[in-house]
Amino acid sequence: MSLTAERHRIPLSDGNSIPLLGLGTYADPQKTPKGSCLESVKIAIDTGYRHIDGAFVYYNEHEVGQAIREKIAEGRIKREDIFYCGKLWNTCHPPELVRPTLEKTLKILQLDYVDLYIIELPMAFKPGDAIYPTDENGKMIYHETDLCATWEVECHPYFTQPKLLEFCRQHDIVIVGYSPLGTSRDETWVNVSSPPLLKDPVLNAIGKKYNKTSAQVALRFNIQRGVVVIPKSFNPQRIRENFQIFDFSLTEKEMKEIEALNKNVRYVELLMWRDHPEYPFSDEY
Ligand code: NDP
Repeated sequence: MSLTAERHRIPLSDGNSIPLLGLGTYADPQKTPKGSCLESVKIAIDTGYRHIDGAFVYYNEHEVGQAIREKIAEGRIKREDIFYCGKLWNTCHPPELVRPTLEKTLKILQLDYVDLYIIELPMAFKPGDAIYPTDENGKMIYHETDLCATWEVECHPYFTQPKLLEFCRQHDIVIVGYSPLGTSRDETWVNVSSPPLLKDPVLNAIGKKYNKTSAQVALRFNIQRGVVVIPKSFNPQRIRENFQIFDFSLTEKEMKEIEALNKNVRYVELLMWRDHPEYPFSDEY
């Protein structure tokens, strides 16, 4: 498949399609000025992004919805041009809560539908108003669930997921890789003892050859092998930079060199919840 800025969707078995490149929108709400998400999504849409990844628990979903609605009102896009993925938070796993929680998300977005709605994490917390419910000792209160769905998969050159990718290929399943640039390295939830992906010498050397950055090489690697990526940036220059990945391609040798960088490094380990009975990251995928 030849990928271009205008045409980089993968068909899905239900007749819909998903753009291989999306904008991630998670940013620490304590450290991110209000309106940054709104502006970034608008810049992204103007740049050509048609896939936006968000969640109720990112606390900026209203800004995502506003940006999409403003761009529709301007006549720049139609709703059906955009692929929006929303997420069911851990406190809303009981089946009877799924629909009302989705309806709440639609109200926040002020949109009629989302294109994809996924279980954010496979670890349920006690349902209720508290997003992070704790007991009197400050310990998280977990909840039992029966999981029969799948969720997003971290994926980048240090965590190439060959086994999972092969399984998904055989079963016609599209992978969406989060943290494709190796995260923001926020030590409250990221394993920062792992080496920073974007400083990798191989990615940088390959980038030099094409006059591209290590980030662009890391993103191109995944889309070229059919993995959807959702890099987050609220910086106008980097939002645009991350979209400039359709004007070059990696050779087979370079793809192999990048595959060989795999270190099985998972940046998002969520170790604070590792005692949850459904903690997913001890299993091999
Ligand atoms: P990413 O791998 O997308 O990295 C984001 C970080 O990289 C930010 O600090 C961003 O800063 C910086 N950055 C962006 N572009 C560049 C560039 N070209 N060069 C250098 N630095 C760059 O991490 P995320 O963990 O945010 O993952 C992406 C998205 O996946 C999330 O925002 C969210 O939508 C989704 N997601 C993430 C999950 C997770 O647990 N990590 C789980 C589920 C979903 P700046 O903004 O300043 O450019």
